[in-house]
Amino acid sequence: MSLSPAQRVFRFAPSPNGRLHLGHAYSACLNHDRAREVGGQFLLRLEDIDLARCTPELEASLLSDLAWLGLTPDAPPRRQSEHFADYEAAIAALRDAGLVYPAFMTRGEVKGFATLHEKREGRPWPRDPDGAPIYPGLDRDLTPDERRARIRDGAPFAWRLDMAAALARLEGPLSFTETGNGSEDEVLAEPALWGDVVLARKDLPTSYHLAVTLDDALQGVTDVVRGCDLLPSTSVHRLLQALLGLPVPRYHHHELILGEDGRKLSKSEGAASVRALGEAGLTPVDIRRMVGL
Ligand code: GLU
Repeated sequence: MSLSPAQRVFRFAPSPNGRLHLGHAYSACLNHDRAREVGGQFLLRLEDIDLARCTPELEASLLSDLAWLGLTPDAPPRRQSEHFADYEAAIAALRDAGLVYPAFMTRGEVKGFATLHEKREGRPWPRDPDGAPIYPGLDRDLTPDERRARIRDGAPFAWRLDMAAALARLEGPLSFTETGNGSEDEVLAEPALWGDVVLARKDLPTSYHLAVTLDDALQGVTDVVRGCDLLPSTSVHRLLQALLGLPVPRYHHHELILGEDGRKLSKSEGAASVRALGEAGLTPVDIRRMVGL
């Protein structure tokens, strides 16, 4: 089924935890230009769940950089930190369905577990697509009494997806439409590669995976255009869409703009910030040219 132009909705979804760099500018321009080409909507979402790293100053600077680039969203931005209740409701639904469980092990403990196992067994512990050791699932096997006791004792915990239970609910394999290679491909989703992913962090009612999936649905996004570093994560998002009964957007994972050293640009290193380039005299047209548009 092809959508009529007015129904297409694109979004740029940066985290305001650093200055807008050339990689973001590219992604934002692509979303904006495609929306304009098809007479669709261009939306902005501020992925600011990490309250310690996302500041009002960085958000203001991001908004002014986007305005300077001439990328005006068609609606006020959705700020994730204002919608924690939506994520809590989704976690509650998954909890009621028996698909998430409280996990007490910290990332450091998971790493330690993997290293110990590797030393003992002499072979590598499995890693997720981001290279982090797969969670060993020890907390999944706690009895309800043990769980209750730990929570009563005040032990902090995250909510993790019970991947095996989630996959058992599916009627068949999942896939999504991907246009990043210039053709329209149906890509098989492989959420199992991630193991029992965190859906709500210890300090927050959500994680990136849950918030991004829910918000794309709540904002009526039909086209997700984002960097190819997020392609593996789409498998988790596709699974959450199936579990929560959400619509499935089309995906376009674009190539990344790399730094001179060939590495991904990083906000924390202040790489090629749009602001600095503007202050050095470059125009928005120069910026577009620099990213190949
Ligand atoms: N907030 C994410 C980032 O800045 C992007 C999320 C997405 O586009 O799905 O890397």
